[in-house]
Parts: sequence; C-alpha cells; structure tokens
Amino acid sequence: MASKSNLNTTLANDLDTRQDILNEAMAMATSFLDKQDDLAPGRNIPSLDAASLPDKGRGAISALRLFQKEYAHLLSNSAGPRYFGFVTGGSTPAALAADWLVSAYDQNACGSNDSIAPQIEHQTIGFFRQLFGLDDSFFGSFVTGATMSNFTGLALGRQWVGEQRGVDFSQDGARDVSYVSGTPHSSVIKSLSMLGAGRRSMVYVDTLPNREAVDVNALEKKLNEINGPCVVIANAGTVNTVDFDDIEAIADLKKRHSFWLHIDAAFGGFAACSPKFAHYAAGLNLADSLTVDAHKWLNVPYDAAMQFTRHKHIQLKVFQNSAAYLGNPEESPDFFHYTPENSRRFRALPSWMTLMAYGREGYRDIVERNCDAASYLGELISSSDNFELLAPVKMNVVCFTLSSHDEGSAQAIKAFLNAVRDDGRVFFTPTVLKGRTAMRAAVSNWQTERSDIDIAFSALNDTHKNLLNVAASRV
Ligand SMILES: *Cc1c(COP(=O)(O)O)cnc(C)c1O
Repeated sequence: MASKSNLNTTLANDLDTRQDILNEAMAMATSFLDKQDDLAPGRNIPSLDAASLPDKGRGAISALRLFQKEYAHLLSNSAGPRYFGFVTGGSTPAALAADWLVSAYDQNACGSNDSIAPQIEHQTIGFFRQLFGLDDSFFGSFVTGATMSNFTGLALGRQWVGEQRGVDFSQDGARDVSYVSGTPHSSVIKSLSMLGAGRRSMVYVDTLPNREAVDVNALEKKLNEINGPCVVIANAGTVNTVDFDDIEAIADLKKRHSFWLHIDAAFGGFAACSPKFAHYAAGLNLADSLTVDAHKWLNVPYDAAMQFTRHKHIQLKVFQNSAAYLGNPEESPDFFHYTPENSRRFRALPSWMTLMAYGREGYRDIVERNCDAASYLGELISSSDNFELLAPVKMNVVCFTLSSHDEGSAQAIKAFLNAVRDDGRVFFTPTVLKGRTAMRAAVSNWQTERSDIDIAFSALNDTHKNLLNVAASRV
C-alpha cells in the first residue's frame, strides 16, 4: 500500500499498519469468545468517570489496547450460553464474520444503483418469506430492531386507516386512530408515543383466562364499539409466556370489521422453523404488516430486525423522502423511500450469511434445542420447593418466582436477581405476570445446552440458600 502523505500522521500510520490493527482486533475478539463459557453473563458496573478527549490521538493499536486493558473484561457475556435475560440471541459464527465484513465494506444500503447490497437485502427478505411461510406479495426491509419494526407497522396501519376515511395522514397529520391489542409489547406503547398517537390511544382487550392471548370474542366486541377502521396488533409470542393470539381467528374478523392487522412476532415467528411449534405461528401470512427480530432468535449481532408488509404503496406514502437529488420516489425502488432511516448499514448481510451457512435445518435445530432446554428448566423449577413455575413452558421462556409469598415482593425479586447476577453463572431479568412479580429465563442462544440449565439451576438454588442464611443471621 502506497503511503498517503497528506493524511494526518496518525491516520497515515494507521493506514500503513491496517493489517496489524485488524489482527489486534481479531486477537481481542478471540480472547473474548474463547472465554464465553466462563465469563459472567451479567455484571454490575458502577458509573464510569468522565475522561478527557485527547488532543492528539494515540493511534488505533494503542486505543484498542487501552480498551482491552481497562474495559473489555467488564463487558457482559450476553452472547454466551447462559445469558437468559430479555430475549437475547448470540451470534452464530457466520453471522459474526458477516457483521465484521459489513463494517469493512461500509455500504450505504439506502439506494439501488451503486452496489449489490440492496439486492442482497431483497434476497435475504426472500429467504425469510420462505422460512416464515409468507407469500411473495410481502415487501420487507431491515430496521434496527423489533421496536422500529413495530413503529413502522403501526405507521403503515395508521396511514391505511386514513385512506379508509379518505384522508392522507402522511400529509395532513393523523387523528383519532384506535390501536387494539390484548398483551402488546412495551415497544408498541413506546411506538405510539413516537408516532405522536400517544400511549393512551392503546385500546386493551381482555385476554383468555390464565393466558396472555387475546380473547377473540372480547376483541370483536371492542371492534363493534370502535365501529370503523382501526389497527389491531396481534401478538405471536409474548415475552413472559410465549403465548400466541389466535391469528387465524383474528384475521377472520376482517369479514365483518375493517382493520389493519399488524403482527408482532419478534421472536415467536421462529415457531415456524419447527414442525413441533409451527401451529402456534399459523396465520403469519395473514398480516398486513409483520415484525420479526433478527438479533434475537436468528442469532445475528445487534442491531437487526425485519419489517414486512403486503402494502408497499402505503409504506411509500409514509416514508418517501423527496429531494431532487434522490429522484422520483414513485419510480424509485430505493430503501430510503420505505424505511425510517435514510442512510443505513448493510444490515442484511449477517442474516444472509447465517441462513446460507445453517439453512432451515440449522434454525429448526436451534429453536428445538432452546425449547428443550427451557422445558427442562421448567421441570426442575416445578419440582423445587424454592421456586414456583407461573406458566407452562410453551417454547423458550420460563416464567417463575420465589415460592414463599413474603419472598415474592418486587424488592425481594430484585435482590435475588442481583445476587444471581453477582454469582456469575447465569443472568435472568425480572417481570410481572398478571400482577405477580416474577423472573424470566429466555433461552435463545444457539450454544445453550441442557448442561447450561443444570449450572443455572444450581446457581438459583445456591443463591436462594445464601440469601436465606444471610436473612437468618440477621434475626
Ligand atoms: C424484544 C421484543 C420487541 C422489541 O424488540 P427490540 O429488538 O428490542 O427493539 C418487540 N416485541 C416483542 C414481542 C419482543 O419480544
């Protein structure tokens, strides 16, 4: 490589030693990944002191080594096999390698006329259509996460409601739209705030007894009351119990009621990968818009999700980005007329790579193995005196609490989970299920095995014993 003598000297030096810099990063990554079985999944990090911005840079190798020495050992091992908080996937080897390449290629995947990247994105969306049983009329694109995917779907639904009323909300602003759901994810409520619809525009419908799935009769009653076009959000995999609305029954209501059907299948959509679970996700193809995360069960690095819709023209209405230098949106296939972002990274490549590398069979295996591990943890918890299982384990999430009632307060659960985290073997997050404070284990990492569940269960029991001893010594 010829030196570029006009560059700042540190940059010029880094250009000359680029190979060494990348090797250094590779060594850091390898040393992190090699410890993935042993590093604590979660850790409590006190806030970091402010640091001064250097006047003169130290160069890439020195900056990498500084980070390695001071901070890298304090990261969470969230890509490891025993991080069970939220719904957290790791990164398959193929996805990780592709994600590195995305940065090296540094494409702006917004347009269509200077790179293959947008075409690869369309091809990847096509893979997902096949994986989830969606027909070819679905248009799709990558966004940063299921939150942005839900945001996009709700924006489309709202635009559609406007069209039913003969108003173009994208030009004139939106008013008085009802968003109806049984157990919407918190990101749906957040999206309503971001959309300017307001969190209070959410219309909650009763769920079935002891379930998080919507009561379809109650939904129909609500639709009668609303008596006009609205947006219904069906949930395909709730975060606490992986419950699924009866999507086919909901879609059937369209015969008598006018609504846009948005389906939040952030991780539950992956039920479609396994014949054992596919019946849960039956009806995804009936969506007007659909959310599926990639950084959860697909196990690609953050941040990636897909949004799908069969109403591409409505998406163009909402997201078109008119500027003379961008061409006529009506004729342009470019993503910046369809997605919340304008400039966007080549986010599809890790998904493309992992689907190519492991195929349908690989994802069926990951889903079934994760569900088996979750079901095993459910059995261990059911048979334990220390813990109470709060819902049958349907797929990959185990929702449970401490069995004695006075132990079950929000404060006690928090203290218990902090102690579990600090034990360093496993990581869970808290929740509330039907008014009861609880804990969740979501098993979504391609590496998790039954032996990890044994370790996790020991950590739970040891923590329980230690806390009891501490409590006893205080009395
Ligand atoms: C995780 C999740 C979301 C939000 O996803 P992000 O990727 O964190 O933005 C939305 N809906 C459901 C059902 C989820 O599980």
